[in-house]
Amino acid sequence: MVQRMMESDAVASVKEQETLPVMEAFYTVQGEGKYTGHAAYFIRLGGCDVGCVWCDVKESWDADVHPKRTITDIVEAAAAYPGRLAVITGGEPLMHDLTGLCIALQEKGFQVNIETSGTHPLSGDLDWITFSPKKFKKPLPEIYEKAHELKVIVYNKSDFAFAEEFASQMNADCRLYLQPEWGKQDKMLPLIIEYVKKRPEWQVSLQTHKYMDIP
Ligand code: SF4
Repeated sequence: MVQRMMESDAVASVKEQETLPVMEAFYTVQGEGKYTGHAAYFIRLGGCDVGCVWCDVKESWDADVHPKRTITDIVEAAAAYPGRLAVITGGEPLMHDLTGLCIALQEKGFQVNIETSGTHPLSGDLDWITFSPKKFKKPLPEIYEKAHELKVIVYNKSDFAFAEEFASQMNADCRLYLQPEWGKQDKMLPLIIEYVKKRPEWQVSLQTHKYMDIP
């Protein structure tokens, strides 16, 4: 028994020493989706191979240019704030195994949310999965059953059909959001409003953090 505990302590310690490339991490208010308005600690991991043309965080794509931080360091910094909602984002955060990070955050009382394109295998015990599919790389089908919200960025009119293609495959409890791409908001938001009025299974999601002028 004692031997087993020592072994699991050793595994835990190795996990805490694991590193992940962190582009930035900051305490703010979630601006999108179901958790809009909630204080949250964002952890933006480096690395993305999806290649969206309109990506507003292209600096995240190359994981190697971002400092590798230990899980212990990442979680200690998060726990310095009173909020206990963590949002793991990117880049594409599932390019990394998130098992150790989820465990360490949850041990400190965090709910762990993720924002992903679903193009890499799920890892870690994630409490809330926001699935944001992109036209530039196909998602893995496992995400359809697991996601809690589907968020489709509307950049042009063809994105409504793209959104429906995914909505029909999602689990029955999954929330459905249409969000205008920030630069196309003037053109796309009126279309989204009309669409949601006709198809009320969808909701409008806005990047409210941009209105609040917060990260
Ligand atoms: S998945 Fe996200 S980070 Fe990656 S290219 Fe698309 S918008 Fe940018």
